[in-house]
Amino acid sequence: MSEPFVINGVQIGPGETRDIDIFVAKQYDFTDLDMPVRVIRGREDGPRLFVCAAIHGDEVIGVEIIRRLISHKYLRKLKGTLIAVPIVNVFGFNNLTRYLPDRRDLNRSFPGSPNGSLAARLAHIFVEEIMGNATHGIDIHTGSRHRTNLPQVRACLQDKYITALAKEFDVPVILDADIIDGSLREVSVKHNVPLLVFEAGEALRYDEVAIRSGLSGILAVMRRLEMIPPVTAKTKRVDPIIAKDRYWIRADQSGILIIKKRLGSIVNEGDVLGRISDPLGNHNIEIRAERSGLIIGYSQLPLVNRGDAIFHIATFAKQSSVEKSLTDFDDKFDYEER
Ligand SMILES: [Zn+2]
Repeated sequence: MSEPFVINGVQIGPGETRDIDIFVAKQYDFTDLDMPVRVIRGREDGPRLFVCAAIHGDEVIGVEIIRRLISHKYLRKLKGTLIAVPIVNVFGFNNLTRYLPDRRDLNRSFPGSPNGSLAARLAHIFVEEIMGNATHGIDIHTGSRHRTNLPQVRACLQDKYITALAKEFDVPVILDADIIDGSLREVSVKHNVPLLVFEAGEALRYDEVAIRSGLSGILAVMRRLEMIPPVTAKTKRVDPIIAKDRYWIRADQSGILIIKKRLGSIVNEGDVLGRISDPLGNHNIEIRAERSGLIIGYSQLPLVNRGDAIFHIATFAKQSSVEKSLTDFDDKFDYEER
C-alpha cells in the first residue's frame, strides 16, 4: 500500500503526473501569481526529490534545466517522486530581477512565516509544500548579474552522504559552503533534507554547457538514489575535486577591466589575470593571482569600481588534481569549444 502524497491539497497517486499551480499572491491588477509545480510520481515508492530554480528570479538557467529534466525519457521508469519547481521566485522572474518587489532576497528569508513579508510568505509556502514533502533536494543557481560561474556544486561537506551525492555531478569542482542565515540550505539542515546547490553560468543568460552539466548531474544523482535505471552504455564521467578554500580578487581601483584569464583557467600565484586601465591607456594596473587555483567565477562587466569583486578563485590541496577533472569536463561538454 503506497503512502498518500498530497501537495497544495492535491493528492497524487502512484504513476500519476500532475501540474499544480500554488497560489502565492494576487498582483496589483488582481490576477493571481502562482508558483508552477510538476509532480511526477512513479508507480513504486522511493525517494522524493525536489529540484528547484529561480529562487533568485533572474537566474534562468535552472528553469531550462528543469524544462529538459521533466520531459526526459528516463522518467518513464521513475521510482519515487520528482517535484519540479522551475520558478520559485515568480515575482522576480517576471520582472527580470533577483529580488521580490519589496527588494527582499528570498534566499535570506527562509523558513519564512505565513504572516510575514511577501518573501517570508513565499518562503513559508515553499517549506510547507515542497520541502515538507521531500526527502532530498537540488537547488539551482547562477552567478548574479554580469557575473558567470564555472559549473560547480556547493554543499555541506561535513556530511558524508551529501558529499557522495555532490560527487555524482559532472563538475570540475565542489565547494564546502558555509551556511548562510535564511537560506534554503539552512532550512534543509533543520528539516533533515540533504540539499545540493548547483551553480553555473550567469543571471539572465542561457549557457548550453551549464544547462547540460546541470541536467546530467541531476540525472546522475537520481541514478544514485535509484530513482531511475543505471546507464547501460559506458558514459564519460567527471571526477570533481573538492576545493580546499576559495577567495575573491577585488579591484584596487575603478576603471576599465580587461580580462586576460578566462573562466576555468588554472592559475599560479602571481599570474596576471587582467588589468584595469583608463580610457586613454595611460594607466595599467595589473591584477595578479594571490594564490594558485582555478577561476570558478568572474565579472563579465568591463567596468569596475574600486572594491568590486572580479575573480573568484578556488584553491586545492594539490593543484594538479583539478587539471584532470577539467580535462574530463571539457571532453564531456566541449567546454573549450564554446
Ligand atoms: Zn542565486
